[in-house]
Amino acid sequence: MNVYDSRLIHTLFVRHGFQPVDNENDADILVVNSCSVRKKAEQKALDYAKGWRNKGKFVVFIGCVAVEHKDKLIDQGVADLVLGHRAYGRLPELIEKGVGVVEMDSDELLEFTALPLDRPAYSFSEFVTIMEGCDNFCSYCIVPFTRGREAYRPAEHILEEIKNLEKQGVIEVTLLGQNINSYFDGQRDFSELLEYLAQNVSLYRLRFTTLNPRDVSVKMLKVIQNHLDVLTDWLHLPVQAGSTKVLRDMRRGYTKEEFIEMAHTVRKFLPEAVITTDIMVGFPTETESDFEDTLDLVRKVEFDHAFMFIYSPRPRTKASYWNDLPYEVKNARLRKLIDTVNEVARKRRERMLGKIYEVLVEGPSRKDPTRSAARTRGYLTVVLDRFLPPGERVKVKVVGIKGLTPLAKVLD
Ligand code: SAH
Ligand code: SF4
Repeated sequence: MNVYDSRLIHTLFVRHGFQPVDNENDADILVVNSCSVRKKAEQKALDYAKGWRNKGKFVVFIGCVAVEHKDKLIDQGVADLVLGHRAYGRLPELIEKGVGVVEMDSDELLEFTALPLDRPAYSFSEFVTIMEGCDNFCSYCIVPFTRGREAYRPAEHILEEIKNLEKQGVIEVTLLGQNINSYFDGQRDFSELLEYLAQNVSLYRLRFTTLNPRDVSVKMLKVIQNHLDVLTDWLHLPVQAGSTKVLRDMRRGYTKEEFIEMAHTVRKFLPEAVITTDIMVGFPTETESDFEDTLDLVRKVEFDHAFMFIYSPRPRTKASYWNDLPYEVKNARLRKLIDTVNEVARKRRERMLGKIYEVLVEGPSRKDPTRSAARTRGYLTVVLDRFLPPGERVKVKVVGIKGLTPLAKVLD
């Protein structure tokens, strides 16, 4: 989401006659877009901004940390201008005034729908945000406090933005939202939006993230099933934990059994589905036996990939009033979880051996730039036996697995 926001802001600046530069040293103004989902990310953004401001740059601080700290950022010499998400449309104009004002989220600043639909494409693969904010208030999460209440873009705007990207050669779009499947623009729900887009875009692939597990519907799975020519069967379903008690304390709205059942339903409708997830360890009420439930769920669902985090207490959230577990306990659980996830992911990768996939080349492989990394429809990275230009689509056969990475031979 921050990548998408940053690209929009870049467009607005260029349209106002500002000149982009390649590195910080050459810039007069720096816009720091921040994330506050975990403490570490927040600290990184603050240190970075302060460092450059001390060197005399005009620093604009935006993103969730801006909303969290507001005028403190100016008082503490971190930034000259601090802005909330929905005021981004006015950013270049505010800079021209050159003052250290603070513009925070409020209804009259809700300019989400007023942002340019005809922005330039940066790559053949682009993000398009379809909703802002979150109404869920999971007990550990700062997002509803920083990004505000849910707001949805009209389906017609989303299509227009995608059409403009297509004209510039974009072949893959990822729709973004915190709970993308709670989308409702007054006319279309998320399944209907997918149906509408699938019928009207000419993209190669249309992805979406993040799904809220509790809102996964058979209606949505059927739309995906019917449009696998353009929609992808990659489902990012953040489970967070495996213990029903912890899930209740987190306010996630589903039990362990319900999640497992939902994942099985996904695989029934979409047998090739790639299911990825986010998991957090060390939530304040998590005991060893609750943590064992997480490992058990991982084994039962067999995720293809997981992003794993140590719980980090965030200001204003309900869970931040509960006792934080010792770091050593949390860290030991994380190590164990990583091992279990790798074990099941390895099993999932082995099923790819000998199979043929159509992949989209992304760029050189990180470890060996003479070969390309490419993505399957399910968004798994495979490393090819040669270098091909980014954006190319090819058929490949998986001939080996190294660690968790499938190695594939390009079929001529
Ligand atoms: N809307 C998405 C998640 C957005 S935040 C959802 O509900 O699934 C991305 C991920 O960061 C979350 O899935 C969670 O695993 C992690 N996260 C959020 N708050 C956190 C916290 N306080 N400590 C550690 N990880 C956190
Ligand atoms: Fe945070 Fe929960 Fe909203 Fe996801 S659904 S952004 S975890 S409050």
